[in-house]
Amino acid sequence: MQIRARRNLVGASRAELAELLAELDPHPFRAEQVYQWLSRRMAGDVDEMTNLPKALRQALAERAVVQDPEVIEVRRGNDGTAKFALSLADRVVIEAVAMPMEGHTTICLSSQTGCAVGCIFCVTGVLGAGRNLTGGEIFGQYRAILRREGLVGAPVNVVFMGMGEPLLNLPNVARAVELIAETVSPRRVTVSTSGIVPGIRKLAALERRPKLAVSLNATTQEQRERLMPIAAHWPLAELLDTLRSFPLERGRRITFEYVMLAGINDSDEDARRLPRLLRGIPAKVNLIPLNPDQRYLGELEAPDEQRISEFAGILAAAHVNVTVRWSKGREVAAACGQLRGQLTIRPPA
Ligand code: SF4
Repeated sequence: MQIRARRNLVGASRAELAELLAELDPHPFRAEQVYQWLSRRMAGDVDEMTNLPKALRQALAERAVVQDPEVIEVRRGNDGTAKFALSLADRVVIEAVAMPMEGHTTICLSSQTGCAVGCIFCVTGVLGAGRNLTGGEIFGQYRAILRREGLVGAPVNVVFMGMGEPLLNLPNVARAVELIAETVSPRRVTVSTSGIVPGIRKLAALERRPKLAVSLNATTQEQRERLMPIAAHWPLAELLDTLRSFPLERGRRITFEYVMLAGINDSDEDARRLPRLLRGIPAKVNLIPLNPDQRYLGELEAPDEQRISEFAGILAAAHVNVTVRWSKGREVAAACGQLRGQLTIRPPA
């Protein structure tokens, strides 16, 4: 007898569910019911889908499973930040983070199992490339965290700032964004990129566009190439031109992240160049003091607080909307640039 592998329903689109359900039930609305259970109510099992007839649930369970990445470790910081290690079906381990904020929780998701972009200030980048996550794996991280933390139905923001470059995996990120949009407005979802110009153009064409953040970190092409080797492929001038034509709804801005590195990109000249670069782009700048990590990031360190405030002061005086983001979750290595998928491969059980 041939045994058919059961497909994972997490990440399935409406059309894919319609095709599957059409084989099992004559009513077209069943697919929408299943879609709602998976994407809104975050059902963890076919059996939880109680408005489906029992016979249909049985038939569906014979063909399909509901399987999120498995949470294998949670580390909690004093500020409430939780870092999750999640094991995928091929036993690769990725990380995601939940940060309690005022009035909501921000969930930071990974889009790849490593990162080929190679930013020198980022642990994921130093550890190197990985594979793309599927749309189901990305959305499954989100579901797993909501379920585990009791956040189903609670206000959340979602940021793609975990492991990987989301715009090098745009089809799967777009699928996950579409599923997340069932519970979170795209206004509360942010995709952060190192500046992949073709990906930004594709993102601009999406009907339900998330917000865009760009990891800038430099004010000259030379400096940017030193910090982010990918800048050699998509030069600063081309990146900024592309951003000038990125469609923004009224009141929206592009966020520019600027990881501050002592003695490298924190001079007064940098602070004076930055507003000139951003001219013509509705922008806000997040200054992020580096989260040092001697093991992976060597001698790189953050400027002291006075230098950071002076830098921010120059930007503010030039009418740049600027905030300093003191990262949450430092003590559990959940802060920006600290995610690394720890074991990478989990030994067989
Ligand atoms: S900062 Fe982002 S794009 Fe750069 S190496 Fe790290 S994960 Fe990749």
